[in-house]
Amino acid sequence: MLHKKSSNPLLVVISGPTGSGKTTISRKLVESSFNSVFSVSHTTRNKRPGEKDGVDYHFIEREKFRQMVKNKEFLEYAKVHNNFYGTHKNEWLNAKKRGFDLILDIDVKGGMKLKRAFKDAVMIFILPPSFKELLKRIKKRGVEKDFDIVTRFKTALRELDFAKKYQYNIINEEVEEAVNEVKKIIAASKSNSSFLMKFRENFKRDIERFLRNRNV
Ligand code: 5GP
Repeated sequence: MLHKKSSNPLLVVISGPTGSGKTTISRKLVESSFNSVFSVSHTTRNKRPGEKDGVDYHFIEREKFRQMVKNKEFLEYAKVHNNFYGTHKNEWLNAKKRGFDLILDIDVKGGMKLKRAFKDAVMIFILPPSFKELLKRIKKRGVEKDFDIVTRFKTALRELDFAKKYQYNIINEEVEEAVNEVKKIIAASKSNSSFLMKFRENFKRDIERFLRNRNV
């Protein structure tokens, strides 16, 4: 076995423009794997129809968010489309304690903060298959006004500039395939993590100590 599942959990950041399908991919990944959990963020935005508090997000007031920032409760936070979003430190602490990988569906600003703070973070950027498909997906979400469509594309352009800062880019042509790609990336990352580097070093040290004691 290459890794000890329970002692080597990873932080997996999944970013991409609206309509890239990153939320669907993140959710499906968690549903279909035994050792990962979805990071439920805190946000000041209003609940959309069908969303559940504590499942999709923890919906909170701006004042409460400000207080949490002041108390340094977030691993990272960012302002996206005029609302605040943040990952509570407990999301990572609890996942780690359970030996689960933490899957974070967050924007590029938050992603960059985590990349700096966690050198083992797995950074994945999801790309929509084409401009035409992205336009179709945005319209499918009920965004019809020209102004709103233009805003989404302007944001998408800015976000695409960050794609090259992510270790992996995946084109989301077909969701199941994209989920499998992410799973392969996570598995490969485990064998490269600092946990395993330390494990190998300790192993070597034990052998060396054993040999020294035998005067070999
Ligand atoms: P939405 O409001 O459409 O659910 O999300 C808007 C954007 O905020 C998406 O790009 C989503 O990935 C991002 N987002 C969600 N949670 C967080 C978070 O905790 N931190 C950051 N930085 N971005 C987040």
